Amino acid sequence: MRIGIDLGGTKTELIALDESGKTQLRLRKPTPAGSYTETIALIRMMVLQAESELQCTASVGIGTPGAASTRTGLMKNCNSTCLNGRPLQQDLELALGREVRISNDANCFALSEAVDGAARDANVVFGVILGTGVGGSIIAHRQVLEGINRIGGEWGHNPLPTPAADEQPGPACYCGRYGCIETWLSGPGMSRDHDRITGNHLTAERIAQLAGEGDAACAQTMARYLDRLARALAGVINILDPDVIVLGGGLSNIDMLYEQLPLRWGPYIFSDSVSTSLLPPMHGDSSGVRGAAWLWGQ
Ligand SMILES: [Zn+2]
Repeated sequence: MRIGIDLGGTKTELIALDESGKTQLRLRKPTPAGSYTETIALIRMMVLQAESELQCTASVGIGTPGAASTRTGLMKNCNSTCLNGRPLQQDLELALGREVRISNDANCFALSEAVDGAARDANVVFGVILGTGVGGSIIAHRQVLEGINRIGGEWGHNPLPTPAADEQPGPACYCGRYGCIETWLSGPGMSRDHDRITGNHLTAERIAQLAGEGDAACAQTMARYLDRLARALAGVINILDPDVIVLGGGLSNIDMLYEQLPLRWGPYIFSDSVSTSLLPPMHGDSSGVRGAAWLWGQ
């Protein structure tokens, strides 16, 4: 049995998968706000409850928004800030009396889709989260490529490739740079771009919907977005050449992306033909927690 835990800012989810990947149990609890000790205690309690209900012991994988520093072993970049600066893995291993594996939520999403989701037959998968932020992850042969600095696949803070004059220097990013891929391709990034040209503030979902209904200004915003995403993904294809790119996050619901991007990325890719598939996620909101369980491989 494999237990996966998705440690989110507001809720903590647990899933137990059997050998074939079938869900045997799900639990969901509110994440204790701002308390590290209570967060550890909650995870321990949820694992013990699942094991007692299922009458077995399980491997435990955890998905979190941040990552452990390779230098110190302490968590960094977590939006649940009480985790930052804490030895989460060590403390969980102590609390649970076993080795645990931890990875970030983009990695868990992509792993879930690569093991038994949209990209289940692919050797190399690039997973992209397009939501409030932009994240990326590389899965090779059903294993997360964490990387020596634990930033494998982290592509959201690369600069937007081949920027036009009016895309320079680009919006300021919280990471301290300008024109990061995330500042253009996140949901708030699309909204800001629409606002900049039209003076109207709409969410990304609304812009996509209105574009589909024939609104000219929204269609132009979508066209700019598609060209930027095509450039950004072409950069990944030129380096990694994945079999499949799978999209996740709120913007992965926009159907137009799957029709339009393969029509637009060709000129930016160094190949006479492009066989890379671009796919929507299969497990939806469950990808994070399922991928955490699959951190202990088959
Ligand atoms: Zn940035």
